[in-house]
Amino acid sequence: MHVIFIVVHLTQRSRMQWARGQKIVLNRPIWRVLLTLCLVTCFSAASIASQSKSCRDYSYSESIGEQQLWVDFSYLASNQLEGRKTRSHGAQLTRDYLAQRYSAIGLLPLNGKTDFELTFTYQRGFSDFSGVNMAGYITGKTYPEHYIVVTAHYDHLGKKGNRVYNGADDNASGVAALLSIASYAATHGTQTSIIFLATDAEEQGLYGAKGFVKSPPVQLKAIKANLNLDMLSQNRGKNRLYVTGAKYFPELKPIVAKAIDKAGLCLVAGHRSLQRGSIVSSRTNWRQASDHAAFANVNIPYLFLGVSEHPYYHTVNDTVERINPKFYFAAVDTSLNVFLLMDQMTFDSADK
Ligand SMILES: [Zn+2]
Repeated sequence: MHVIFIVVHLTQRSRMQWARGQKIVLNRPIWRVLLTLCLVTCFSAASIASQSKSCRDYSYSESIGEQQLWVDFSYLASNQLEGRKTRSHGAQLTRDYLAQRYSAIGLLPLNGKTDFELTFTYQRGFSDFSGVNMAGYITGKTYPEHYIVVTAHYDHLGKKGNRVYNGADDNASGVAALLSIASYAATHGTQTSIIFLATDAEEQGLYGAKGFVKSPPVQLKAIKANLNLDMLSQNRGKNRLYVTGAKYFPELKPIVAKAIDKAGLCLVAGHRSLQRGSIVSSRTNWRQASDHAAFANVNIPYLFLGVSEHPYYHTVNDTVERINPKFYFAAVDTSLNVFLLMDQMTFDSADK
């Protein structure tokens, strides 16, 4: 995940109630701040407690291949890969692993290449940089000329001194899920052609996805949708998985409805503020928060699956040990369902 802004605020109603009942206290700024913090803490705790009661059960199918999924996830988040920072030795080791897994799964390199690497360049400040995406594809049985691009960024923050930012949730979880979905898709076949794209330099500004869209290996108009997986495993936030994108691309709403129906965990459409009456809300710009933004910007419909912000986000505590495997497996199973629903969708080539 690229950026997160959290804003704590009071609703208009709360302000009016407080103003009516506690006018003298609230006129003193320090008391106002302390009272706000107290109420925020109390209300948040109550809100999370009530949510976890109904969202504590997780179920998933055998289709995800949980054993291999956990092997992939654990390796991608291991100290050996040193936080997978763009242009680091750890990033090269990550690509070596992905190349080996893509081959084993049966994905093919694009455009007759002999490897899966797609190099891109980008400007940051006054300097030029390069990064390397990893792309493999399978051919669709019914609509081979149409593509869905499944994205998950493999880069993370690297290390500072001896402290490794493992990025288990962000985003070893999404990349391992991409491999699980690719494995299922390659074994069972798909209607549409699928490009599996593990992107680089997301943390710095979505540069891998932007580079892919800028110089696509297939015609841009042949790309009918993007499924982006970023942060699927950490349930310490709100114990929910979120799916966004259908607000901007309503043709995807039936897919979201079916996915929510079938999900083995609490899947929620959209990152709205918390429950009615809550005085806390999150104001992350979810449309711009990850690689799907690059596709949305050229009007390619997307669905983005990810958890909410959590205490371990972009810290050295984002490790495999702090992940609940059952929640993660249920999240990957839900991602696979969303993928299959997108693949089954009939794309109208005439209007694109
Ligand atoms: Zn991130």
